[in-house]
Amino acid sequence: MEHDKKGNHFTLSIPVLIIGGGISGITAAIELAEAGQEVVVIEKEPYLGGNVSGFNNYFPKMCPPACGLEINYRRIRSNSRVSYFTGAEVVDISGVEGDFSVTISLAARLINNRCTACGKCAEVCPVERKNKPFGRPGTKAAYIPGGLAFPMKFTIDEEVCEKESCAKCLEVCQYDAIQLEASPGEIFLQVRKIILATGWHPYDASRIENYHYSDEPDVVTNLEFEHLLASCTGPNQKLLRPSNGLPPERIAFIQCAGSRDQNHLPYCSSVCCSASLKHALTLADHYPEMKSEIFYIDLRVTGRNEKLLQRVQSTPSISLTKGKVGRIQRDTHGGGLVLAVEDIMAGIKRQDPFDMVVLATGLVPNLIEGIPLAMENGFYGAVQKAGIIPAATCKRPMDVASSVRDATAAGLKALQT
Ligand SMILES: Cc1cc2nc3c(=O)[nH]c(=O)nc-3n(C[C@H](O)[C@H](O)[C@H](O)COP(=O)(O)OP(=O)(O)OC[C@H]3O[C@@H](n4cnc5c(N)ncnc54)[C@H](O)[C@@H]3O)c2cc1C
Repeated sequence: MEHDKKGNHFTLSIPVLIIGGGISGITAAIELAEAGQEVVVIEKEPYLGGNVSGFNNYFPKMCPPACGLEINYRRIRSNSRVSYFTGAEVVDISGVEGDFSVTISLAARLINNRCTACGKCAEVCPVERKNKPFGRPGTKAAYIPGGLAFPMKFTIDEEVCEKESCAKCLEVCQYDAIQLEASPGEIFLQVRKIILATGWHPYDASRIENYHYSDEPDVVTNLEFEHLLASCTGPNQKLLRPSNGLPPERIAFIQCAGSRDQNHLPYCSSVCCSASLKHALTLADHYPEMKSEIFYIDLRVTGRNEKLLQRVQSTPSISLTKGKVGRIQRDTHGGGLVLAVEDIMAGIKRQDPFDMVVLATGLVPNLIEGIPLAMENGFYGAVQKAGIIPAATCKRPMDVASSVRDATAAGLKALQT
């Protein structure tokens, strides 16, 4: 399904709509399609894959994200029952189970499906985008969003593209894929069921004022660190401090940064402990000379992830300290960031210097603006009006394996009810 040159407005009738094209939405779509049901996935970003597509590696097996995502992309490509729209967001949902009417807005698509990802447009593009997301080298305004982008097509960042005065990409494209005049469109869907798989975004770390995330470049969130690792664990690449470009020697991980705290997120995000253990082990593999220290209230690693904890405990370059970090301050004598923490097991107060600090910020659900849905503890409630089925991390924090299981269950519910 392709947008026409001036954006488009058309109506489709499809049994199941899935909102969100992360690992959960993709899983629900494939399971339903392979059971014979037609589905449509809408994703607001220009690519499918969600948060996982930007990861460096996955716990528990520590494999690259490609190992889970690529096989799913292949299943989507080979199944004509799955349709998907990227750059698409829900504007309105009305009706009842069996007969929902859904209005979806489509972002203007300045590069269409004829793109072969040859990269000529980016070669001639004169405009640089800022590092987005953090840690990745900046890209041109014409760019491929990440190494695992699906569909593997270039996209143009309209916010920075200077299309009024420049059409260099249009001149070099041999495939007639550039359409700088494209305008936004709308689709109207008639669907019987809706699966919500809108996922999560990280808690805003700048709200934890005592950790100085906003004004200290060497204080980063766990998601930013994940992206940073993804861009520097290849051959000839180095992890460098954002502030001065020098390799860090000591890195601190602060668990529950904003989580389990009535002033911020009252709940446990369930994946942050395993994510920090994964990060520290990745550092130990790639940079054995670097020291990591994980500060925690309780370490919550369950099931297969307990093996991560055992590996950390037997890795000499990683230490685990029970204690909540009260404050992070810049050492005025140039010694890096000083953490004030009470080491509970040793019964002492410490003031220790680190080169970088990673905040294990929690998961906040992505909610669809303007569509009232039942809520539970700030997430989508498991029970909604008939025909609307929430799946995975928009319902509660969970890891990839649990998200895939929950999304499969949501697909099954859509088939059964
Ligand atoms: C730092 C960190 C590291 C982690 N590492 C691991 C790990 O190693 N192993 C592991 O098992 N788990 C890990 N997790 C957890 C993992 O990220 C989640 O389990 C996973 O992302 C859940 O996938 P999802 O599809 O539910 O959500 P998401 O990945 O958030 O995908 C949701 C998708 O929905 C889209 N969307 C949102 N709103 C709309 C809308 N209104 N319209 C259209 N589209 C929309 C989003 O753009 C996104 O593409 C980690 C989490 C963190 C914070």
